[in-house]
Amino acid sequence: MKIIAIGRNYIDHAKELNNPVPVEPIFFLKPETTLVRNNQPFFYPDFSNDIQYEVEIVIKFNKVGKNIAPKFAHRYYSEIAIGIDFTARDLQNKCKEKGLPWEISKAFDGAAPISKFLQLESIADFNNLSFRLELNGQIVQEGNTSQMIFHVDQLIAHVSKFMTIKIGDLMFTGTPAGVGPVKIGDRLTAFIEDKKMLDFQIK
Ligand code: ZN
Repeated sequence: MKIIAIGRNYIDHAKELNNPVPVEPIFFLKPETTLVRNNQPFFYPDFSNDIQYEVEIVIKFNKVGKNIAPKFAHRYYSEIAIGIDFTARDLQNKCKEKGLPWEISKAFDGAAPISKFLQLESIADFNNLSFRLELNGQIVQEGNTSQMIFHVDQLIAHVSKFMTIKIGDLMFTGTPAGVGPVKIGDRLTAFIEDKKMLDFQIK
């Protein structure tokens, strides 16, 4: 399986990193080895001094598809979760300066803690879903799916022009403003609406 991750899908976040607001979706891949499940701890890697959290709504694909039209895209996923797109910002900034690929900053082991999944049918309105991240009990990121620059169905249409979507693939749909660093000993807690979904420690 693959993990598709969307960059700069919330205007406030694009601005906080001094990135231009994109005219079409930006995506990259994270390998399966980035996943951390069941609230297992995240182990701070020794190759970075600036690991940052990015809280994101995640969808799971339940159908194979290629060149999916936006109006049919909702048929390709039925479960959602919340996850952290951990980023070694120091390494990412170096890659960006040199115009190099980002993988060392986004695709390292453990860089995608993820919650259990919720059935989409249990969600009142997926297009108006609030979520948040707390760092040691303080809210650091708050978002709502209604604030996405590109709606999930547009993201699926765009990505599936280039690569076949397979059953079990995941998509991290972008982070709202408020990204920031973690340190050893921190605790991250992520919520969809007021439901606690993710709760783990940095070790
Ligand atoms: Zn991200």
